[in-house]
Amino acid sequence: MPPSDRACTLLTVDLNAIATNYRRLRERLRSADLHVVVKADAYGLGMAQVAPFLAKLGCQHFFVATLDEGMALRALLPDVEIGVFDGFLPDEATTYGAHRLVPYLNDLHQVEQFAAQTAVPAAGLQIDTGMARLGLTADEVDRLASDTRPLRGAKLHAILSHLACADTPAHPKNAAQLACFRTQIRKLPAARLSLANSGGVFLGPEYHFDFARTGAAIYGLNPTPQDPNPMAQVLTLQGKILQVRDVDSPQTVGYGATYRIDGPSRIATVAVGYADGYLRTLGNRGSCFVGDRQVPVIGRVSMDLITIDVTGIPSQQILPGSFVELIGPHHSVDDLAAEAGTIGYEILTSLGQRSQRTYLGEA
Ligand SMILES: *Cc1c(COP(=O)(O)O)cnc(C)c1O
Repeated sequence: MPPSDRACTLLTVDLNAIATNYRRLRERLRSADLHVVVKADAYGLGMAQVAPFLAKLGCQHFFVATLDEGMALRALLPDVEIGVFDGFLPDEATTYGAHRLVPYLNDLHQVEQFAAQTAVPAAGLQIDTGMARLGLTADEVDRLASDTRPLRGAKLHAILSHLACADTPAHPKNAAQLACFRTQIRKLPAARLSLANSGGVFLGPEYHFDFARTGAAIYGLNPTPQDPNPMAQVLTLQGKILQVRDVDSPQTVGYGATYRIDGPSRIATVAVGYADGYLRTLGNRGSCFVGDRQVPVIGRVSMDLITIDVTGIPSQQILPGSFVELIGPHHSVDDLAAEAGTIGYEILTSLGQRSQRTYLGEA
């Protein structure tokens, strides 16, 4: 769909870049499988576009967080395997069964309830190796190991655990979780094994096991923040210049009068705001690009607008109706996230629905 002339914020998702990232991760994983995480609407980029595209590339395994997301994905892709991280409540069994979704069991009680039903033939098991978030505790693994009766009838699909510090290779927690995972899986019945998220893929082959579960790297976020990004950039976000004003007397800019202009300056007002996922913390901290010139966000971010300092930029580059680069080749999602004091994951999943979306590379 070509952008309409009225569109104020343009969001472009490059599916070809997603394909590149998928292939790069597969190469790195060698014999291990790649399961793609499409929770939270494919990290805000649109599960309905991203998941079928990946399936065409050969991706047969997906993960979502919630049962609802699993049902939505099943409606898009009748044949792929879909794992659901969030666990299993007994009143959900018929829904899991009807949509052929694989629940991941997160405590012993869920294991027992799973074994007591027949609607869902197989489940995965999540064990906690140091996140204290989801998954069987060490004590629960020992209880299950000493008495596997709760597993009776339960077909174990896979065992997974999640790394807390995968994006910090030097963190000792990685090796500790790897060792813990190895110890715990020896106590449990044989199943496919998975420890690595995006960062985990880059920690080395000993973290790969049977399959990795990657979200961030597929969507172009840097899984190795200390090093240059090995992934291709997927997202572009552009905002339309609505107005340009020259200021020559001292005055303040925006809500709260948090930014003061003292000398002659030129300000452009751009149509993007926190309603579009341009986080309010970017006020007086963010930057964007006009052509290849980096310019600062001045004043607070409003719901629909930001103001940028374009002093010294030639007028023909900042004509109202033209667009500035908020995220793109000069300014990655990770760059913007650093300015906002957050991580790329939050930038992506905050993207609003108001932007005009375009998908490049759709078959
Ligand atoms: C979200 C999630 C992932 C994906 O993590 P990325 O860092 O985005 O690759 C993998 N496993 C679990 C359990 C998750 O919750």
